[in-house]
Amino acid sequence: MGVRTWIDSWPVYRQLKGNDPLGRGAAVKSPLSSERKARLDTADRVVKSICPYCAVGCGQDVYVQDGKVTQIEGDPDSPVSRGRLCPKGSASLQLTTGSAREHQVLYRRPNSTEWEHLELDTAMDMIADRVVKARREGWEWEDIHGARTRRTMGFASLGGATLDNEENYLIKKLFTALGAVQIENQARV
Ligand code: SF4
Repeated sequence: MGVRTWIDSWPVYRQLKGNDPLGRGAAVKSPLSSERKARLDTADRVVKSICPYCAVGCGQDVYVQDGKVTQIEGDPDSPVSRGRLCPKGSASLQLTTGSAREHQVLYRRPNSTEWEHLELDTAMDMIADRVVKARREGWEWEDIHGARTRRTMGFASLGGATLDNEENYLIKKLFTALGAVQIENQARV
């Protein structure tokens, strides 16, 4: 490579002399980076979603190729975040595809130091049994003044920030029907 060619290929020189003074386009491209294709280009569909990490609820565009999530970007249509994601939301692809993601129920028995895998049906049955037991053991027909209450103090519900209206509606219905009175959502804390 001659000296002239070498200088012409130097990104800083191209940035100063060319039409890309901020160095965000042609000036910083190499032959290799010019050939690269963004994962967005090869996706066969884009699914609208919401970042699951916090109460802001930023909009996300989830790019899918051959049934697999390949990239997650901020959704420019979202009135909440207008295309932006914080570092956590930007890294949420790892939440869906990362090796740390669990695909089976994990259970640690009381006083045990080991996790064990459970079938989902088994775990659901265990939860149902415990709900029934806690409801029964915490049941109160009346309060200390003799006023009729018909409630259970055996459990409470604390919802997560990214539950939507419909989910919160169903949770409230379910827990009220079970007799719970302590029903709250983290987004309001
Ligand atoms: S992108 Fe960041 S700010 Fe937005 S919902 Fe996710 S965690 Fe919250």
